[in-house]
Amino acid sequence: MVTISLQNKKNLKKHNNKEVLTIGRYFRKKYGETIYKVPISISGFTCPNIDGTVAKGGCTFCENDSFSPNLQEKKPTFKLNPRVNENPFLDKQLKQLEMQFNATKDRLENKFGTKKFIVYFQSFTNTYAPLDTLKALYKKALSFDNVIGLSIGTRTDCMTDEILDFLEELNKDKEIWVEYGIQSFYDETLEKINRGDDADNMRTWIKKTKDRSLKVCGHLIYGLPGEDQKMMLDSFYKTLDLDIDSIKFHPLYVVKNTLLTKDYKKGDFTPITEELYIDTVVKSIINLPSNVSVQRITAGIEDSTLLSPSWCKNKHQQIAKIRKALIKEGLKY
Ligand code: SF4
Repeated sequence: MVTISLQNKKNLKKHNNKEVLTIGRYFRKKYGETIYKVPISISGFTCPNIDGTVAKGGCTFCENDSFSPNLQEKKPTFKLNPRVNENPFLDKQLKQLEMQFNATKDRLENKFGTKKFIVYFQSFTNTYAPLDTLKALYKKALSFDNVIGLSIGTRTDCMTDEILDFLEELNKDKEIWVEYGIQSFYDETLEKINRGDDADNMRTWIKKTKDRSLKVCGHLIYGLPGEDQKMMLDSFYKTLDLDIDSIKFHPLYVVKNTLLTKDYKKGDFTPITEELYIDTVVKSIINLPSNVSVQRITAGIEDSTLLSPSWCKNKHQQIAKIRKALIKEGLKY
């Protein structure tokens, strides 16, 4: 028999088994059907934090292949940046986009019967290229059958007014999202993780993006070096202050071949505990405005590249635990 404590009974009453607005629910409400995001990794894209423009080595936790499931090809020898005059690889990139989209779309159609899609430029910094290249890729993605919009993962220091002009134009007919990696609003933390960007700049560009009526999703990482729960929640509230539309939560884990590995091995970095992570995510979701959707509540990595913490191995187990903790608060995830 399940016993419910007095506090939990109060929470259940307070939230009345309310559904959390997941991104799936947001899309179903808006379009009347399930929309899937199709992740894309285009060869040649990199990041100013990796190529030495603002920093070298990338964010301390970055091992980009770990979130590039579609990047099957050999590592490219050429790299894009906005200063390149010509992109001789554009045709190849457009073909790659089409192939990746079709492969994932077919799989989703067969498995779930999905009929509508958002093309998600996921890996690296997807506005860090000449404007003509970006225009060609975004337009091509929107030309595919049953694509209702784009989601573009990037950094705030790689957004420009010209890119926003173009996205604003696209947004007239399609749903255009920009996903910004925020991670934390503490500059001292951003320095520790070699982020190469700062809180003021993030605020400026997120506001500019919202001023164009584009949708913004903010990514936060809980468990960054030196951060306690108060700081994590503070970054969460500062993110909400920017009127974002959606949010992703991610625990910081240590993956081999990253700068963070060194700190971890020297004993200079201790990963967040599962209990603290779950508690912080739950506290965040409880306080989320009802119009802000949730796109991710955790992340995991199920291969031998994960060094620590071991609880990050099983994403599904974590989701189940967070879901259970939310139920105690009267919320249905
Ligand atoms: S901004 Fe993204 S791609 Fe660039 S170094 Fe950081 S995590 Fe890696």
